[in-house]
Amino acid sequence: MATNILKITKEYDTQAKCLLYLKSLRWGKTVKCPNCERDKIREIKSQPYQYFCKSCKMQFSVFTGTIFEGTRLPLPKWFATIGLMLNAKSGMAAKEVERNLGVSYKTAYYTCMRVRIGMLMEHSSKLVGIIEMDESYFGGKARKHRKIADNEQSIGADEISLKRGRGTNKISVAGVVQRKGNVHTQVMEKLTKRNLLAMLKHYASSDNSILVTDGFKSYKAMDDYIDHLVINHSKSMSKGITHVNTIEGFWGAVKNGIKGSYRAISKKYLPFYLVEFEWKYDHKTYKGNEFEKLLKNALQHEKDLAYLKAKSTEQVKKIAYGK
Ligand SMILES: [Zn+2]
Repeated sequence: MATNILKITKEYDTQAKCLLYLKSLRWGKTVKCPNCERDKIREIKSQPYQYFCKSCKMQFSVFTGTIFEGTRLPLPKWFATIGLMLNAKSGMAAKEVERNLGVSYKTAYYTCMRVRIGMLMEHSSKLVGIIEMDESYFGGKARKHRKIADNEQSIGADEISLKRGRGTNKISVAGVVQRKGNVHTQVMEKLTKRNLLAMLKHYASSDNSILVTDGFKSYKAMDDYIDHLVINHSKSMSKGITHVNTIEGFWGAVKNGIKGSYRAISKKYLPFYLVEFEWKYDHKTYKGNEFEKLLKNALQHEKDLAYLKAKSTEQVKKIAYGK
């Protein structure tokens, strides 16, 4: 089952209905000023859903400081776009949204990007149990990337061309996943011990956890932090629990998705797409509340305001994850 777009577009077919829904998701019954957090608020009668804060004199709306800020696209179309993106198994291209909703490509692109920001989740709990860590490369031609310490086996690159002409350098992305849990990725300039360890510490708990990686030398540093199993590639790909099939499955899904749905992704925007695939991975079991969950997440103004001001997507991730 998937998000019922027909139901969404029926239920939220006017701007007012959408606004009311967003208002209840953002504030519940008590509207609070996004600037000073106080609730001495006056609704501006001549402008519906516009508010005035008596404490700090700020005027704001339910959009202020969220992914919706400054939008002129009617909310029913926003909602439909979100529904389409939630249902797209392997990514939704702006071109598809353009066709489906009859909006301009530019609008579709802008909206999709903002929905991706809305998919950026802050997880309160860390990964535990059996955790896999691995890295993948995006863009450029296939060639050897690094040597695996023990047996000199090399990991092949992937032949997805991200952007023709410019930016032919491969982009390395590190990923960490909990088996039967969530996944996190990080675009990493250099796959150093220090960077990988910082990422692991940020996302994974070392208590009652086992980390599985291949023999790449940078992962050796993890031993001091967490129980660590290393795959011996020369013997077999997987032996019992010692495998990285889970994270490799995730990389496969990302690459297929990018190949299938997106013609070109620039380095700058790759983190946005990774966020979308992380969301999809973390929500692969349909629970029925995804639409509401995404909207709620997208309305967390504290971070979204910062996102809108961020100059690059890496900055966006920094704001979300503090890294
Ligand atoms: Zn205020």
